[in-house]
Amino acid sequence: MTTDCVFCKIAKGELSADVVYEDDKVMAFRDLNPQAPVHVLIIPKKHIPSLDSLWDEDAGVVGHIAIVARDIARKLEVHKGGYRLVNNCGEQAGQTVPHLHFHLLGGRNLGWPPG
Ligand code: 5GP
Ligand code: ZN
Repeated sequence: MTTDCVFCKIAKGELSADVVYEDDKVMAFRDLNPQAPVHVLIIPKKHIPSLDSLWDEDAGVVGHIAIVARDIARKLEVHKGGYRLVNNCGEQAGQTVPHLHFHLLGGRNLGWPPG
């Protein structure tokens, strides 16, 4: 936990969010500025700044996030149409919040490649 991290604050319940899933390791909540009908952010509760800062022992939580993403996609009914799980790592990828998070996007044609 770093005191000035917005996603740590959400994970601790100090800042409100539209939470769609929570357990002891991860939290998932709707993005404040949604880019698709379904746009959920999935974060580890532990403060990890980015994918590039992962330790080998963090593999479990990232694997768990993939399983949670699968289940949220089913719950929000985008699993049949298709969805995308995205991580932006670092400045050129557009990472703006320095707490590891994966975007789950669905509910419209997403296009490829990204801009
Ligand atoms: P990034 O650009 O780092 O990959 O994604 C950060 C995302 O976090 C953005 O899509 C932004 O809209 C979202 N975001 C930033 N601050 C907040 C917040 O306080 N609450 C929620 N729900 N989303 C946020
Ligand atoms: Zn944090």
